[in-house]
Amino acid sequence: MRPSRRAIRTPDPTRRPSRPRGGETDRGTDWRTFDFHAHTYLTDGDQSATSMWWEAHRLRHRAQALTDHVGLEDPAPLLRRLRQEARAFEGTPLITLVGVEITEVPPRRIASAVRAARRAGAEIVVVHGETLAERVPPGTNRAALEINDVDVLAHPGILRPEEAELARQHDVALELSPRRGHSLGNGRVALEALKARAPLVVDSDAHRQEDLFSFEGAELVARGAGLPDSELSRVLQETPQRIVRRCGK
Ligand SMILES: [Zn+2]
Ligand SMILES: [Zn+2]
Repeated sequence: MRPSRRAIRTPDPTRRPSRPRGGETDRGTDWRTFDFHAHTYLTDGDQSATSMWWEAHRLRHRAQALTDHVGLEDPAPLLRRLRQEARAFEGTPLITLVGVEITEVPPRRIASAVRAARRAGAEIVVVHGETLAERVPPGTNRAALEINDVDVLAHPGILRPEEAELARQHDVALELSPRRGHSLGNGRVALEALKARAPLVVDSDAHRQEDLFSFEGAELVARGAGLPDSELSRVLQETPQRIVRRCGK
């Protein structure tokens, strides 16, 4: 008999639970997952900011950014709404970061979009990079990396060596992504970032609760991109901790 689809469905490895089974302790894995890129229904995500942050809290994340898409429109209403919802998590171990993902803006206008987001109170600024999954305006990676004030260049795709060098100079984190399509560039991004000693992070780019990863899930993405074990704590802990401090949290 052929196995049913259900029987052969494999679990999503990036969501492998970090909770202990049996007598294991979970102290070492709790509140150490960082994620600087996710969406809500305020743009193209499925759930509210509150729902996404509750799930990050349930997964015992240290920091979860919500970075909905903005173009050249006023980012203030979006950021105000995210700030209001973030209040529910004051006093919890979860650090909420309120931000934007600047998306599909002509490269020459990216600097002004970053300034507008900061003026409107963005704690973190992500730029939607030149992913292999979509036609992003060429020159987006370079424009984002030339600005001193971008935190993360998301899914940069075919990253060039000179772009990795700019990321190091301006301390812009280059993103490894588990997201379908975006993940095609991970090996290239990891390779160029390691050569240039540019900072790397792993972000979920979650559009619903189920897309948020566990710590082990983020680690799998990093290792799958080709990072040696000796780089894992830099990518999963040290660089993210520096970003959180820079965001004023
Ligand atoms: Zn994006
Ligand atoms: Zn995104």
